[in-house]
Amino acid sequence: MQLYNSLTHQKEEFITHEPNKCTMYTCGPTVYHFAHIGNLRTYIMEDVLDRFLRYSGYDLKRAMNITDVGHLSSDADTGEDKMLKGAKREHKTVMEIAKFYTDAFFADCEKLHIRRPDVIEPATNCIPEYISLIRTLLEKGYAYQAGGNVYFDTSKLKQYHVFHDFDEDDLREGVREGVEADSNKRNRNDFVLWFTKSKFEDQALKWDSPWGVGYPGWHIECSAISMKHLGEYLDLHCGGIDNAFPHHTNEIAQSEAYLGHQWCSHWFHVLHLNTSSGKMSKSKGEFLTVSLLEEKGYNPLAYRLFCLQSHYRRLLEFSWENMDNAQQAYDKLVSRVAAIDPDDGAVETEAMAPLQAQFKAALDNDLSTSLAVTAVYDVLKAKVNGATKIALLNDFDQVLALDLVNAAAKKREEQAAPGESDAAIDALIEARQAARKAKNFAEADRIRDELKAQGIELIDTPQGVQWRRV
Ligand code: AMP
Ligand code: ZN
Repeated sequence: MQLYNSLTHQKEEFITHEPNKCTMYTCGPTVYHFAHIGNLRTYIMEDVLDRFLRYSGYDLKRAMNITDVGHLSSDADTGEDKMLKGAKREHKTVMEIAKFYTDAFFADCEKLHIRRPDVIEPATNCIPEYISLIRTLLEKGYAYQAGGNVYFDTSKLKQYHVFHDFDEDDLREGVREGVEADSNKRNRNDFVLWFTKSKFEDQALKWDSPWGVGYPGWHIECSAISMKHLGEYLDLHCGGIDNAFPHHTNEIAQSEAYLGHQWCSHWFHVLHLNTSSGKMSKSKGEFLTVSLLEEKGYNPLAYRLFCLQSHYRRLLEFSWENMDNAQQAYDKLVSRVAAIDPDDGAVETEAMAPLQAQFKAALDNDLSTSLAVTAVYDVLKAKVNGATKIALLNDFDQVLALDLVNAAAKKREEQAAPGESDAAIDALIEARQAARKAKNFAEADRIRDELKAQGIELIDTPQGVQWRRV
């Protein structure tokens, strides 16, 4: 597979440390609020990559953290702890907030058909691992204590890696709140590994450590959790573009200083989802959620389709008009699949091969999901029987997870099943019953004819009147 690597700034062959095995790490959500659909764009694209690697035969192990420990907006410690901010807003404890929003995150993922990573680790689970990592960094001379905190010394590195291959503006916009001056730091890019002295007094969760009671800095969790579950050689590290700097830069610095060799060979960054008014941001409070899409009548899988229709390395602009188009495209796809007769013969395995090759080639080319969606349309147009089309759609759905075949089957059932509920039809049936009771048979017949004209047939059963589309 050719996959763009932000580390080398080029599209390159994706090669894993051990053949056919792949370790993949994903920066998980900060659980102080609902995920917005921008965050979820990143998780959808990572999910497609995860699924495609498995589809391609890799034995994949994937881990993700949940940031449930205080997350300051900057190392300078002037930002507010995001978890505590959430707790104050909702009059709950930090752990209650973490639990609630972690569950909400996975509920959203389920609606979007995002697989759960094999390992999910809350940051608060791994304090001993952080302490051991920081202790080694101090022993190796890569860290120092100042003003009560432990800092990573970036001047000790041969190279402080910054992923500056993206548009400077994207990066600047994406960076979490800027790094502010901290007089304890020896070098501008140094960052905190462990806090004991914080300007921010009421940090909710604290742990004992060799350097005093405190809490970890905001990069250490990903290095430690990744190494704990995926070992010393990581094949693939993912995240949204705002994570690239300083978060991933600092993950590389501390991990490679600790290990003494290269840690992760391939970095996958997803560009942002923006609205016309700019970047969507959780910390600003106003944002779009999956629930909001549902309230407005959209299917979350139509949002998944919207994301798949564009490339992960391009900014994606959200608008309600774009969302309407995605919903229409999704509904049309379902209708076209529903029109296929799945039982019209045996699956023509040989005829499947070229379409499968087209699908795989699209994704092998830097995860070109829009071309993979084109392959779905090509299946619908293909000169193969219905059984073969359904087999191909099921095959592709291992990666795309749009659920078209199931949605189509449901649609067919609804169309065929008697007793389907539909408010307008039910109202007419009630009116007909009332007319019958009043012995106004002419009116009752008129209603029956009106329904018939709409393709609705009434069936009188002992349980009452049912109907079906004919
Ligand atoms: P957070 O919960 O803020 O730690 O972010 C979770 C994930 O969403 C990270 O991988 C971020 O890089 C990513 N992310 C944040 N904002 C956006 C956005 N507007 N579009 C796409 N991904 C985003
Ligand atoms: Zn991370």
